[in-house]
Amino acid sequence: MKLAQVIETHHGSGAAGLGLARNLGDGFLCDKNPFFRRVRSAAQLRGYGFTQNDLAGYFGFPLLGLDTVLETHTIPYRDNVAALERLEATRPGFFTLADLSLNRPTPNYLLHEAAHAVAFHEAFGQSQAVAEVFRDPTQLLRVLAGEAFAMTAEYLAACSVTGALHRWFFSINSYRRRTQARKPIGELMLELGERPVVWVLLAGFVASNTLRESLKEREVCALIEHVPAAVPLSERAIASLRRAVSEAIKMSREFRVDTARLFLSKFGYSRRIERHLTLDSVAELARDAHYRQTLVRLVDILVGDPVPAAVNARRQVPSRCRARPRTAQSLAGAES
Ligand SMILES: [Zn+2]
Repeated sequence: MKLAQVIETHHGSGAAGLGLARNLGDGFLCDKNPFFRRVRSAAQLRGYGFTQNDLAGYFGFPLLGLDTVLETHTIPYRDNVAALERLEATRPGFFTLADLSLNRPTPNYLLHEAAHAVAFHEAFGQSQAVAEVFRDPTQLLRVLAGEAFAMTAEYLAACSVTGALHRWFFSINSYRRRTQARKPIGELMLELGERPVVWVLLAGFVASNTLRESLKEREVCALIEHVPAAVPLSERAIASLRRAVSEAIKMSREFRVDTARLFLSKFGYSRRIERHLTLDSVAELARDAHYRQTLVRLVDILVGDPVPAAVNARRQVPSRCRARPRTAQSLAGAES
């Protein structure tokens, strides 16, 4: 594909008015990627905006800038369109997407940051002091759930990528590359409904952030009691769901520990972070209704259900327990 066409597609996308003109592929991803769009619009609904200003040195080290993002309700991003427009202008019609497969423009991680914003808002409300929350060990599981939500959103968005241009735009808008277990996750969505599968997936990513490597079958059963599937779960379905989610959440333990240590020690935690992280996140869902409802709301945002969780909880069978053919089929049918 010609670079001219990439730039033209970028400028011609964003029909819903959500796209940022100076972030490459932003409008395209809002148009084509349901998870990218849902997280973006959820962040905007919660009062978050975007800036090209370098807030508190954010661009130098985004991981250390999360508290600034949450305090200011503003997500920084860099203009990565101008450089490509200048490149194209030097030799119109010469460059193609293949010229930019290994050397890429500077990425923006707006999906990841917007997901953090949404999760923080749902867990702690608007007025809570951010540093106080991050410093408080009794809130640690909710803080880790924010990272898990960002990972879940990126995983599902990556699984929804179709075609070379979508893939290239996504690669400069996300940390996520691998989409392991994409096909079985899609098939399980078709069988059980999108909502319960996303619920177990989110719970899996929370478990991963508490240094677990997989879920147990009895934990999957306990999870499904909170967000029932469209059909009663057979033993085979429980085993498949456990296996697929455990595969999807795979990530280097060293990376998880190191990231948590750097981020949390900024707020007073000791360097021996493992002992703080090993929390029983699945059992906590049964113990703490507020925590559980927060995660259920986050799942509703991901599956695009505008109905508040409180209303859903009163229903016998939540609407999203029914299979949502488009997303699930695109995951189930795609090459993994
Ligand atoms: Zn993060």
